Amino acid sequence: MAKKYNIARPYITTREEKYVLKVLRSGVLSIGPFVDAFEKAFAKRVGTRYACAVSSGTAGLHLAMLASGIGPGDEVITSPLSFIASANAILYVGATPVFADIDPKTYNIDPKEIERRITKRTKAILPVHIFGQPADMDAIMRIARKHKLIVIEDACESLDATYRRKKAGTFGVSSVFAFYPNKQMTTGEGGMVVTNSKKIDEMCRSLRNQGRTPNMQWLDHAYLGYNYRMDEMSAAVGLAQIENIDFLISERKRLADMYHKALGPLSQIVEVPYTAPGATHTWFVYVVRIKNPRINRDQVINDLAKVGVQTKPYLPAIHLFEFYKKLGHRRGDHPICERASASTIALPFYIGLKAGDVKHIAGVLGDVLKKHERIQK
Ligand SMILES: *Cc1c(COP(=O)(O)O)cnc(C)c1O
Repeated sequence: MAKKYNIARPYITTREEKYVLKVLRSGVLSIGPFVDAFEKAFAKRVGTRYACAVSSGTAGLHLAMLASGIGPGDEVITSPLSFIASANAILYVGATPVFADIDPKTYNIDPKEIERRITKRTKAILPVHIFGQPADMDAIMRIARKHKLIVIEDACESLDATYRRKKAGTFGVSSVFAFYPNKQMTTGEGGMVVTNSKKIDEMCRSLRNQGRTPNMQWLDHAYLGYNYRMDEMSAAVGLAQIENIDFLISERKRLADMYHKALGPLSQIVEVPYTAPGATHTWFVYVVRIKNPRINRDQVINDLAKVGVQTKPYLPAIHLFEFYKKLGHRRGDHPICERASASTIALPFYIGLKAGDVKHIAGVLGDVLKKHERIQK
C-alpha cells in the first residue's frame, strides 16, 4: 500500500504541550496571561503597535470591519479568489462586497480592476494576500489614498510574508491573521487583528468581549458586542508557535523549493507558483496550475486521492457559490479568476514531508496528468 499524504497538518512540539499543561493546571482558562503574552509576541513579530486575539480569523475580519465603521450602504472591493470568510465579513456588517478580478500569475487582486470598480459608495478595499504572497500593496495604497478609502488586509494566509521588505499586515489601518490548523501557525481555532491605531484596537477589544469597555464593570456594556474571545489553551499553543516561527516559516520555504525542483520536469503540463519581484512568499499552500484547459481538474483530484495523495481545488471562486449567485453575481463576471479557479490544485504541504515524499507526489501527479493528456488526444 502506498504511503498516504494529507493536504496539511500542524507542526506541534513539546513546547505547545508544556504551555497548555501550564494553563490547565493554573485554573485560568480564559482572559489570562497567555492571551496577553501571545498578543505581545505576535505584534512584535508583525511589527504593529497592537494585536488583539480573537476566536477565529473570520471573527477578526468581522471586528476589523466594525471597528472601521463599515456598514449598510458601503461598498468594499475585494478578491473573488479567496476563502469565503473575506467576502462574508463584508456581508456581516450589512455592506456590499464588490469583486475585482485577479492577476493571472500571482492570483492576487488586480489593482487596475479595483480602480474600475470604485463608485461614490466605495468605502474600503479588502485585499487578500492569497496563498502566502502579498497583494500589490504599493498600487493598492496609491488607489486608496487617491480615493480616500480604508484598507483592511486579509493576511490570514500570509503570516511573515513581505512586500518591498514590509510585512504583510502593516499596510492597512488594520489587518487580520488566522490560526486554523492548516495555516503557517496554529492555535486550533483562532485569529488576530493587528493595527497601529489605539482606537481600533480598543474597539476590537471591546467588541470581542461583549461590548465591554476596559473601565466598565463586567456586566456593563457600551456597544453591541460578541463573544469572540480567544481562550487560554489556544493562546498557549499560539505563544509556543510564534516562539518557533522562524523554523515554521523557513521549513515551508525549503519545502516549496523541493516542490519547484521536483516539478521542473513537468513544466510542459503544470505551472508552478509564481512569486512577484519584491515579494516574499511564506507558503500557506503550494498551488499548481494544470496548463491544458481541457483536462478535467476534478478528475485529476479524484485520481490522486485513489493513490493516496490528497489534493484540493484551490480556490473555488466566491462569486460562483450558490449564495453569492443569489446576490446577483454571475459566471463570466471575473474571467481570470474563473479560469484560475478551474485549473488549480493545492498539493500536500506540511512540515515533515521529505524530499523523497515530494518526489513521489510529483511523480504521481505527472503520471495522472499524462494519462489525462492522452484521454484528451
Ligand atoms: C483562513 C482564512 C480566513 C479565516 O479563517 P478562520 O477559519 O475563520 O480562522 C480568512 N480569510 C482567508 C483568506 C483565509 O485563508
